[in-house]
Amino acid sequence: MNITLVRGDITEQRVDAIVNAANSSLLGGGGVDGAIHRKGGPDILADCRALRASRYGRGLPTGRAVATTAGRLDARWVIHTVGPVHSTAEDRSELLASCHRESLRVADELDARTVAFPAISTGVYRWPLADAARIAVETVRTARTQVEEVRFVLFDDRAYEAFAEQLTY
Ligand code: ADP
Repeated sequence: MNITLVRGDITEQRVDAIVNAANSSLLGGGGVDGAIHRKGGPDILADCRALRASRYGRGLPTGRAVATTAGRLDARWVIHTVGPVHSTAEDRSELLASCHRESLRVADELDARTVAFPAISTGVYRWPLADAARIAVETVRTARTQVEEVRFVLFDDRAYEAFAEQLTY
């Protein structure tokens, strides 16, 4: 598998699937979630509502992932995953790793070969960038998957540098 880094906007990536740092309601939020729904249009939200009504009445649990269509985006699917809120009281690293592993598992189910990830949990969920980058890169690197390219799409220089540092090891 190739791991690539891009500084930019995940909604502009031409890949099979983009990963959304969603919240458990699946009904939209701010940050990358808001950007995906704004640009992708109402089909994504309609799919999310259907998932709430069928499988995820109580919301999508943290660390899990589920796919919808990608509406008007240049991707075929959006894989929604719920990152953990960072905590100093307990170690939630395994949940952040699980977001990456589960997203790749869903990508495999869809036969997606190129997948773009944002820096999950590093926005309103406050995960320190260097640590989030370490967990994300390690998990993807060691995942058993058919995905051929994982592209981390970082929105600003700080996030880009944090991921670049992990990839040099
Ligand atoms: P979380 O709730 O998981 O912390 P956020 O959406 O608040 O999710 O932030 C996750 C990361 O996504 C942050 O590093 C933020 O800068 C970044 N981000 C926000 N908008 C975009 C976008 N359009 N493309 C890629 N990354 C984005």
